[in-house]
Amino acid sequence: MALSQKTALEIKELVIRKKVKAVEVLTDLFRQIEQVEPAVKAYLTITKESALNQAQVIDEKINRGEKLGKLAGIPIAIKDNICTEGLKTTCASKILHNFIPPYNASVIKRIKEEDGIIIGKTNLDEFAMGSSTENSAFGPTRNPWDTTRVPGGSSGGSAAAVASGMALMALGSDTGGSIRQPAAFCGVVGFKPTYGRVSRHGLVAFASSLDQIGPMTKNVCDAALLLSVISGKDPMDSTSVPLETPDYPGIMEKWNPGMMTGIKIGRPKEFFTEGIDPEVRTAVEKAIKVYEKLGAKIIDVSLPHTEYGIATYYLIAPSEASSNLARYDGVHYGDRTPQSEGLIDMYIRSRSEGFGPEVKRRIMLGTFCLSSGYYDAYYLRALKVRQLIKQDFDEAFKKVDVIIGPTSPIPAFKLGEKTADPLQMYLCDIFTVTCNLAGIPGISIPSGFTPDGLPIGLQILGKPFDETTVLKVARAFERETEFHKRRPVMNDE
Ligand code: GLN
Repeated sequence: MALSQKTALEIKELVIRKKVKAVEVLTDLFRQIEQVEPAVKAYLTITKESALNQAQVIDEKINRGEKLGKLAGIPIAIKDNICTEGLKTTCASKILHNFIPPYNASVIKRIKEEDGIIIGKTNLDEFAMGSSTENSAFGPTRNPWDTTRVPGGSSGGSAAAVASGMALMALGSDTGGSIRQPAAFCGVVGFKPTYGRVSRHGLVAFASSLDQIGPMTKNVCDAALLLSVISGKDPMDSTSVPLETPDYPGIMEKWNPGMMTGIKIGRPKEFFTEGIDPEVRTAVEKAIKVYEKLGAKIIDVSLPHTEYGIATYYLIAPSEASSNLARYDGVHYGDRTPQSEGLIDMYIRSRSEGFGPEVKRRIMLGTFCLSSGYYDAYYLRALKVRQLIKQDFDEAFKKVDVIIGPTSPIPAFKLGEKTADPLQMYLCDIFTVTCNLAGIPGISIPSGFTPDGLPIGLQILGKPFDETTVLKVARAFERETEFHKRRPVMNDE
């Protein structure tokens, strides 16, 4: 098996035991990128030279017998809305096409401290607004399982890179599903941690009360590893929570099937409604059977406010975005128009030329919701419904340990299929947005394939800060199934 197709933990073992050099891992990975990237277009920037240098440093450390970090020699791709010092961070927007941050996001610092190797920045929907990566100012990413289809979004580049062996791991960000939905569409694992578990310092803000950074990997153990590195209190983010980070990788190592006995899994009826693709539904029903077989108890629960999730999310997220994106005015941040007549005209032109249509739509929507006379009817009302959605989960979690359902109601759709109708695109987020509104952790894991060979994702939601149980339950399914081992066959491989 090519090195690029192995899991991160396998690679780490090989590197530490001197079976392969970190440089060889990278060489193999860049060969894969050369072959596959022209068809997939997962990356906006590839940092071959600095990655090879870093790999060399790690190989030298190993030769000298020095202690190595938890991510020793693992090549990692980073969504291009996470700041990387000296390396372009564009948010897939024209307005930031030349932005080179002077500092690293806290998650990047942590990855570097643990000897992880940054290999590039991945494509996304502009400012992470979208569900298909088609809103990138630099062109769409394609799904490695079928390049006529979208990889999901907004972390589509990260998902496609991991799925096609162009990265061993990746970071994504999730405001309303942007880690989990692309993970589902591309057949990889994507984990959105509890709000506050991971520092957002250096993540370009979309909707600050919803955004979280999280891992995208080939399997659950790799996700546990990367999560353990990026988690924890950070003085640079006051919303990060001062909790000890559990030893997630250690917990995964000690995992045994007996741990599923007595675990209570909630099956919300609202997650199994008519709009779901029958193949997705079948895959999730089968997953539930697997859990029953393992001794878990399946319990019917209700999340009655799920139906208001989309409306609530698409008021709150754009409201926060309209405020966060005010800084891109050609003065504080972002590209300035070359020609203008006076200050106001300069602002208007810079923003009109720099932002794409979806970002503009959200800024207008958000500004409207927050404007005097409409604030109470829209923004404030949405905040109240958000509270009800959170209470639904609180109630359900009194009865169960985790909640299970589909990540997305449909598998990956065709490029261009939903771009003409933003509402159709928004509706795809029905099962992912409530998790962000409630601030709870959620993972998507590969749980089947359609007859056309498209991956299907299973979503597992947990109690606040109980990432451990989510990981355990996810791992249980993985141990019993082979879906996560399947890799897309690319035409030119
Ligand atoms: N698809 C959702 C949106 O368009 C979620 C995006 C995200 O999580 N960043 O807003």
